[in-house]
Order: sequence, then structure tokens, then C-alpha cells
Amino acid sequence: VTIFSGKTLALFGLGGSGLVTALALKEGGARVIAWDDNPAKIAEAAAEGIETADLRRFDWSPVSALVLSPGVPLTHPEPHWSAKLAVQAGVEIVGDIELFCRERARSAPNAPFVAITGTNGKSTTTALIAHILREAGRDVQMGGNIGTAVLSLKPPSDERIHVIECSSFQIDLAPSLAPTIGVHLNLSPDHIDRHGTMENYAAIKERLVSKAGLAVIGVDDPMSRSIAQRCQESGLNVALVSVDPIDGKGVFADGETLVGANGPDTAPVADLSGIGSLRGAHNAQNAAAAVAVALALNVSPDKIRSGLRSFPGLPHRMEEVRRIGHTLFINDSKATNADSTEKALRSFDEIFWVLGGKAKEGGIESLKQYFPRIRKAYLIGAAAEEFARTLGSDVPHVRSNTLEMAVEQAATDAAAMDGPAVVLLSPACASYDQYPNYEVRGDHFRELVRSLPGLEAKGV
Ligand code: ADP
Repeated sequence: VTIFSGKTLALFGLGGSGLVTALALKEGGARVIAWDDNPAKIAEAAAEGIETADLRRFDWSPVSALVLSPGVPLTHPEPHWSAKLAVQAGVEIVGDIELFCRERARSAPNAPFVAITGTNGKSTTTALIAHILREAGRDVQMGGNIGTAVLSLKPPSDERIHVIECSSFQIDLAPSLAPTIGVHLNLSPDHIDRHGTMENYAAIKERLVSKAGLAVIGVDDPMSRSIAQRCQESGLNVALVSVDPIDGKGVFADGETLVGANGPDTAPVADLSGIGSLRGAHNAQNAAAAVAVALALNVSPDKIRSGLRSFPGLPHRMEEVRRIGHTLFINDSKATNADSTEKALRSFDEIFWVLGGKAKEGGIESLKQYFPRIRKAYLIGAAAEEFARTLGSDVPHVRSNTLEMAVEQAATDAAAMDGPAVVLLSPACASYDQYPNYEVRGDHFRELVRSLPGLEAKGV
């Protein structure tokens, strides 16, 4: 990144993308002074040759900008001290996506750039878009909030497509964000604690599409519908996405069929039936958005169909781990609250449900309508007591305590069924009581399932 060549920058937040960003700026000729609230992160950066200093005791007069990590509060509940110092010093505050945007504007303004946001489904949609484009033979760089820091990707060029997931924090720190294609999936009250109000949260999301060459907008919730309407009124090129028929231009799902629409003219593009990695209505929304993007980038319907079919899905999100006889094993460890687990329960019948961990407020009360789908529940972790009470006499359940025990019991019970069954890890809980994070929990589940004996070993 050479846009700050010869300039001095303050950088706060060395976890996640912070260190990569500091290194990229330094390589581009900037002087970067970095800091973090965690001493281990500071030591790590220093070991990589990054200059570190406590920005509270630093003379800000030569500083051109503060580069802030997306996890650091910019406004709510109140600005982080580094943001306050930047405001005092009169310097702008930017994130790594902003640096990418400015670099692109300077070096390759026509380089295709797809940016994706929304409350839910960002990572799935980002990965699906990248997968379809790659399968169609395009040169694709994928990153942002999904994991790979945007400045560690290959630089933009006219033949290379950047597919970047943006959280609201990242959009907030990227005032020049103007992607070739902006995707906004949906809005629900989440992260409001970090953005003050729902209106502010929605306004941030809207910024990603309102300056896009093409705005792909999900219209299945009222606030996103208003965003689409405003974009259309301002004359923007808009493609609507929905799980119901739409009135206008875009892609919608009719059952499991994705249909392209141009006003009254509609034509089926692809079929989602049998694609395990894209099960459920929420994935129909994600897939419709991805198809809208692929069509706009001139990928043929044939290539789109084969890309959808070969999409492996993301780990820990309704991930198909294995099939043993009639039993399907699903790892949905990312479901750390009842809302996410609801999507999994809605997608299956005959469920042997592994759940528990550190409960969120409200527990699993909101899931009662799905209890008839559950054959039996296996409770792990700290929430066992509370969840056992909620399940009551409606759902047979056992206190398995550990994931090892739960998997063994659920696999045995599911195998005793006559027809299809699903062993589903969808904990509706954080993992911290038993695991460092949901990834380790999901990896453990996968490992346990993979080491279950197959049909041959059981003599079936
Ligand atoms: P994000 O990156 O926005 O957190 P993911 O693609 O990682 O989203 O999906 C996380 C979870 O959110 C999924 O396991 C599923 O429960 C739910 N989800 C995914 N897509 C959608 C959608 N379009 N609408 C609502 N919920 C969704």
C-alpha cells in the first residue's frame, strides 16, 4: 500500500488484520507506530520489525491518520481512547478496507471489486461468490471479515476479482468504499450495542450499496426493503434478491429454484435441491445473491449451476460431516445463539440434537415450536440444567455433559431409527465453558464423528 508513502501513521489494534496492515503500510514506505491493549500483541509486532509506542504518550503532530482495527469501538458505547486522540489531533480514522479502496482507486480503478455485507450470511455468500467465480475460471481474491486480511491479498487488477466480506465496523472505517458490485443481504437487530441505534446500523450497511456500480439487495426484511427503495429512487443500478417472487429486476427463489427476473420476464437459472451445503431458506437468499453477482459478472448459467453444486459450504455452519447409513451428521457449531440454531432446526426432521455450552440470555425458549422435530436432545456444558428445564417433558433428553458422550449416544440412538435421521450439533450457546471458541468445538465434533465406526464395522 503506497498511498501513505513517506507519511507517519498511528495504528491501534494488532489482533486479526492489524499486524498484516502495519506490515503492508510499512512496506509501502509509511512510518507506522503501532499499539494494542494487549502486551503480547505489541511484542509480536515488535518482533516483526514494527515500531511500537504507547500512542497516549506520543506526539501526534506528524501523524496523518489513525488506522483502527474493526473490533475497536469507534463510537459505541464510547470511542476507544485511540479514536479520541485521533479526533483531538484532527486526523482521520480509517480501516484496512479503506486503505484497499484508496490503493485500488489509484492503481486499478476498474478492477472488479465485490463487497458483501448484511447481518447474517455474509461469510456464506462471500465464499459462494468466490467459489462460483473460481470454478468459472476467474482469478479471484477473497478476504476481509471472512478471515484473510484484505492487504495480504494480491493487489487489484483489471483481470482479478476481489470478493470482500465487510462487517459494519469495517464499512464504518471505509468512507471511500464504492465497490463495482455491493451486496447487502439482510438486517436484523444485532450489534446494535456497537452502533447505538438500529437506524445508525442500517445507515452504515446502506453505505456499502449506495455507492456501488450495481447494488444487489435482499428485500426479505423491512429495513433492507427501504434501503433498496432508496437506492432505486436515486437512480442506482439495483438487483433485488428474495426468497419470494419479486417485482422488478433481480434473482428470487421459487421453492428450491432460483429464478432470474427482469420485470415480468422470468427464467429459471439454477436449482438448489439436493445441494446439502445450501440447505434452508436462509441459504436460498445467500445463493440468490451470489447468482445475481455471477450473472452481473457474465458467468454463464451453466457455470453458475456447476459452481452451486460443487460448493463445499463453510465449516461449522450446517456443515455436512458424514453419513453413516441413514444418519447424517451436521456440524453447526457456529450457532452460538437460539436465532442461529433455529435455522438448523427448521432445516431438518428426526433430529438428534446436541446442544449446550454457555447459554445466552433467553436460552432456547424461542425454539419451542421446533421441539416436535426433535427425537432426543443431548445436553453438554454449563447450560444443561437450564435447557433440561426448557425441554421438560416435551423432548426426551439426557445430560451427556461432554461432546464425546453426546456424539456416542446420539449416533447410537439415530442408528436405531428405521428411516433417515440427523445428528445435529447446533449448541445455541457460546463454547467458552468447555472450548476456547466455536471452531475448536466444531473441529472436535467432526473428529469424533469421523472416528465413529462405519457400517461395515457394525456388520450392517
Ligand atoms: P455471517 O458471516 O454474516 O456471520 P455466516 O454465513 O457465517 O454469516 O452464517 C452464520 C449463520 O447465520 C448460519 O449458520 C445461519 O444460521 C445464519 N444465516 C446464514 N445466512 C443467513 C441469511 N441469509 N439469513 C439469516 N440467517 C442466515
